[in-house]
Amino acid sequence: MNIFLVIVIFFLGASVGSFVNVLVSRSIAGSDWLRGRSQCERCGKPLAWYDMIPLLSFAIYRGKSRCCKRSLSMAHPIVEGLFGMLFVWWLLVGFIFFQLATAPWTIVQPIFWLGIGILLLMIMVADATYGVILMPFIYISIIWIYGYRFALAISGTYQWTDLGITLLSGVLSFGFLQALHVITKGRGMGDGDPYLAFVTGSLLSGIAAFWGMLSAFILGAVWGIGLILLSLKKMSQTIPFGPFLVIGCLITLLVIRF
Ligand SMILES: [Zn+2]
Repeated sequence: MNIFLVIVIFFLGASVGSFVNVLVSRSIAGSDWLRGRSQCERCGKPLAWYDMIPLLSFAIYRGKSRCCKRSLSMAHPIVEGLFGMLFVWWLLVGFIFFQLATAPWTIVQPIFWLGIGILLLMIMVADATYGVILMPFIYISIIWIYGYRFALAISGTYQWTDLGITLLSGVLSFGFLQALHVITKGRGMGDGDPYLAFVTGSLLSGIAAFWGMLSAFILGAVWGIGLILLSLKKMSQTIPFGPFLVIGCLITLLVIRF
């Protein structure tokens, strides 16, 4: 594999990550997704293009804004790096399990997996930084997954019973977290987490949905206990569960494919 291509795809991913940061913060602020120029997060001055080069701007100005020399959030380089890695993974590893060999699936299958990867990372970033599950991204993910599998079923590439199992896996995952949400009166589980579980459960489908959920709980428990031991959180404080659902889902996808 050409190293130049890998670097290009990494920065392409990092640029998508940079754009996702803007989309997520505008969604949280309730402002228009596409209108308005990017501004300095500290003083509000408009940014020039060379302030917005993913990762490089942050590195060159050493994490400070060029206009007012104040520290910028570490969330930017972390998110850009995550998206860069997603794209490199998709290019280097993903193509091993993109096995549909007939048109148009040779093209549609890689696009589907890159798209759902972007959506899940977006949901994870929003939950990790703001503690909210952004419902517009959940709806888009549901349409993305069911649209793809429905089209596969119509073309005969996917069994209709598999589509039924997908739906059942999503509903059971949703129901399990919704039950926890009700039992703990919203303290153990947020409002949006069951909907995210519907997405990850549908994507994994079948027994994999169970493994994904179990991984999420184990990761969440390890993380929570770690934070308490390090005295960073008290027992009564909650941590967002969305990131664990997403990471558990990604780990399960990797494990069941290899
Ligand atoms: Zn500034």
